[in-house]
Formats: sequence, C-alpha cells, structure tokens
Amino acid sequence: MENALARPPVKLIKYDDDVKDLSLKVRIIIYARFSTDNQSSSSTEDQIRLIRRAANLAQVKSILFPGRDFEIVAEFKDEAVSGFGVVGRDGLDSAMNMIRAKQADVILVSDFKRFLRGMGIALQLFDFLNEYGAELLAISDGFSSAQKNARLMFMNKAYASEEFLESVSIDTQRGLNERRYEGFSDGHLWFGVTSKPTRQTMIKGKLKDSHFEYVILENQAAVVRRIFKMSADGLSQREIAKILNDECVPCPACYYKTGVMKEHLTERPTWADRTIYQILNNKSYIGIIERGKTKIIKKSDGTKQTIDMPKSNWIVIDSPNLKIIDQALWDSVRERFRDYNLRKLKSGSRGKPFRHDGQVNHIFTSLCSCEACHGPFVVVTGHKGGYYGCRNAHRQKTCVNHKVISWKKLEPPILNYLVAQLNSDEVCKILAQKYNELRKSRISMDIGGGERAAEKLADVEDSIANIIKAIEQGVVSDALIAKLKSLEEERTALKGKIELLGSTDQKQIYITPLVIKGRFQEIPELLRTSQPFEINKALRPLLGKQGIKILHRTSADPKGEFWAEGSLNLGKALTLVKGLGYGDSASIKHEIPFSIRLG
Ligand SMILES: [Zn+2]
Repeated sequence: MENALARPPVKLIKYDDDVKDLSLKVRIIIYARFSTDNQSSSSTEDQIRLIRRAANLAQVKSILFPGRDFEIVAEFKDEAVSGFGVVGRDGLDSAMNMIRAKQADVILVSDFKRFLRGMGIALQLFDFLNEYGAELLAISDGFSSAQKNARLMFMNKAYASEEFLESVSIDTQRGLNERRYEGFSDGHLWFGVTSKPTRQTMIKGKLKDSHFEYVILENQAAVVRRIFKMSADGLSQREIAKILNDECVPCPACYYKTGVMKEHLTERPTWADRTIYQILNNKSYIGIIERGKTKIIKKSDGTKQTIDMPKSNWIVIDSPNLKIIDQALWDSVRERFRDYNLRKLKSGSRGKPFRHDGQVNHIFTSLCSCEACHGPFVVVTGHKGGYYGCRNAHRQKTCVNHKVISWKKLEPPILNYLVAQLNSDEVCKILAQKYNELRKSRISMDIGGGERAAEKLADVEDSIANIIKAIEQGVVSDALIAKLKSLEEERTALKGKIELLGSTDQKQIYITPLVIKGRFQEIPELLRTSQPFEINKALRPLLGKQGIKILHRTSADPKGEFWAEGSLNLGKALTLVKGLGYGDSASIKHEIPFSIRLG
C-alpha cells in the first residue's frame, strides 16, 4: 500500500494520426472474374460495368484510404476455361504485378464470393495485400481485406467455394465423409437450407463451433415449392424466372448462406433460367443428398480434369427431415423433363447458339461479327449442323446481310490457321524470347524471395502436420479444414516459388522454343477432345475484343467467297497450355493479323 501511494500518477498521452494528403487519389484496379460453370458469357463485361459505376459514384468505402477520391488505373478480367486447364487468373496476376510495382492501391471486385471461387489462393492473396499495403474491396457486400476479420473471411469463403471439397487431401476427405455419414453439414448448402452448429469442440485451447446441422429456411423453402409446382403445371424455366422476377421475389444470390438477406447490394441479382433448372434437378429437395459424384484429378502434365465417379462410389444420404418437396411433385416434374428431353433430341437443338445452361453450342459464337452492321455473326439455323449468319439480319431484321455460311466452311479453316501459326518455328522462337525476358524481369524484382519462401515453407509444413494429427484424433471443424486446405495450397505455391527462384540452372528457369513447340503440339488434341464452349472460351483471349470479321467478297469469284479477318494474339496461346508457371504468360503480346479465305 505504501509503495502504491508513493508512485507518481500515470498520465496518458494521445497522438493524432499523421494527416494524409487527401487530395492524392487512390489508384484502383477493376477486376472481374468469370467461370464457365455458372454465368453467361457477357458476365465479365457486366461485372466491370457495375464496378466502374460504383467507383465513379463513390459508393465504395475504403478502410485503408478513407475520404480520398478514386481513380481507375486499370481493368483486368479472367475467364476460367475448364478443358484447357487454364487457371483463369492471368488478369489477377497482372493486377498483383501493378500492386507489387506500387502502381495501384486497391483492387475492386463486384462480389467477393465470385472473386474467390475456383481460385483457391485466398490466404496467399490476403498476405500479399497486407505486405504491399493494398486493399481488396467488394462492391456487393462492402467487404474489405482491411477489415478486422478479413483473414478469417478469406478462409471461410474459399472453403465455401465449389472446388474446395474436390481438391482437399485424402485425409481431410475421410474426415468429411465421416461427418456426412452422420448427417452433418459438409459446408455445401443449397437454396432453402442453411446450417447451425450443434457442438463446441476444443481446438488449440479454444472452443469453436463444430458439427453443423442442416436447417430448412422456411421462407426460401416456400419459393422452392412454388417453383416445382409451376414446373409441374407446365411452365418453362424461363417463364418461371420471369414470374418470380416480375414479383420481385429475391433469388438465391440475394441471400447469405445463413439465410439473411444481403443489404447494400448496388444491383439486385435476379432469377435466371439456369437457377430454376438447377433447383428443379436438385435431389436434396426430396431429402436425398448426393455427394462425391465427380472428382478432380491432376493429370501428369499438371492440368486438372473433372471426372464422373461411378454411381456405386457416391455418398448418398437420405435425410427425410430435409424434404421440401413431396415425392409426387418431384415425380411429375421429372415426367415433364422427360418430355422436354425427348423433344430436344428430336429437334436437335444445334441451331441455337446457347445451350439450356447458357453455354455456347458452337465454337465461334460471339467471336465473329457482321461486316455490314458489326453485330454478332452466330449460328442462325440448325440445318445440317448449323449455318453462321448475321443475327441482326435473321432475328431482329435490322440488318440487310442475309448471307449464311456452313459451320464446316467457317470453323476448320480458322482453327487450322491457328494451329499452323502455333506450329511455326518463328512464332515459337518469338514467344520463347518474350517469355524469358518477362521471367527475367520478374525474378530480378524478387531478391531474397527464395530464402523467405523456404522459411515460410518450413512453417507451413509444420502446421499441416499438426492439423493432420488433430484430424486423426477426431477433431474436425469447418475452420480447421479450411485452414488445412489453404495451407496445402500455400505449400504448393511456395514449392513452386523456391524451385523457380532457387534454381541455379538457367535451363530450368528459361524456356526454349522447342519446349513451347512441344506444348503447342497438344493443342490440336485439345481442340479435338474439348466441348465447343470450352474451345470458344479458350479462343476468346486470343482474338481479343475485335474478334473476327466475316466478309463476303465478289471481286475474285462472281458467286462470292467468304473471308475471315482479324488478329491473333499468340502470346495468349501460352496460357492455353499449363506448366509455364505463375501465369507469367499473361502479359506477353504477339499480335498477328490474318485474312483467311473460308470454304
Ligand atoms: Zn449484320
């Protein structure tokens, strides 16, 4: 007591922050991402427009740079292509390069969830942003990478993404399956259902929610029932979507997984035919949860492929308490779909440019334009497998160019030209040279990166071992699995980086024209085995915004001949074949203008 009295009183001093120059503009990068599985082809453009508008109207609130004006310095987009094994993150790489070079401060995306889907490098990106003092902002939910719980959010969102389960390690998979067999949530939720924790488990000395149980969200379930009834009554997916949109019924994208309505959406998402189609075909609505139907395998060349699993291997759980639709209603909708599929088979839907799920049916859909009106030159009739023509002329009647050309005359010459270019020694030589120059500049920017990465790798290996041990001892929680997954990805990335930076053998760092040529030789095979929509997506970056102009000339032949004119950016072809590391190839440009006679 005596001592306490003798001590002089403590005084607190309050510092003010240094005043930042508010007149300096925050440099932002707009980034849009599109994945083949769930959106229409116009989607990246839509996203970019939405983001640009929000930025210009100052509807975005930055935590790191409050009160300062925005200035858009760049726009990047990525399109994921499944069959070609393209990771679809060249645009993101370019964005990160700008941040690394201190040319930008903020990455702006439309929707955080969409942004992360299929990318799986959440934590790595988070750390990157932190390291460079940059910020990621999402328009739809106002998420910022600088907010308090951001690291956890990154992990959770990555976990919720579709590819997550298919790519976790076998150890994790086993733990998850155990929980599935017990009827607990595996993190995959569907419209009408959310999950709630039933237990708390001690993990690293902290109590964490675990053993999540599925719970029906009654208001969403009512919408699901209505959709099934409308379908059984004979309404098409499109008609159902229109009715719901007219009534302003919120669609799945309007809700968080918890069932809470998203607020502050700058643009409210709406129902699409495809959403209705997916709901009508989801067996979970009669309480049958099917999992493990597909698996992603890594091929020896480093690309990934989704394969169907035999039915006997599926994990099927019957949960009568999750039944939203009764069997009779489900059956009558199946009946309707059977009719529909029969009709489709008979009519041969190949005349339509898009499939029921929004994927294109033909290789050059929306890549070609009409010489008269610059409108889309697409398949306008399904006759004999399809004829391309001006859509404005054949549908809208706003163009006079009624000439049509068979797909057999249009597609092969252009593809053959592309393959010939990629097989040319000259092209491979130029691309190898440009690639190596880029690589060199990249490495010189990252001095000491090798040692840092090695230290980090040791840490990561340690953590992985700890988590696997915990799982073996029966501790499985959503957060833990998410952590493991991100650590595994971090490990892969670090190993790659160490290999690249630590290599003293120049041959391992740099690429020769011969190697590029070898890789390109896979392309004809890819073209042969891929779906038209996959080829379409792969060609898109090569052709750029201009696309191909289809011309009809009568100068040489009075009967007329078709020509295709455009320009190929062969640098983008490097991204078609994986294994060139880090998406470095994104910024390599090698444009070749072409003019090809068709037929
Ligand atoms: Zn036209």
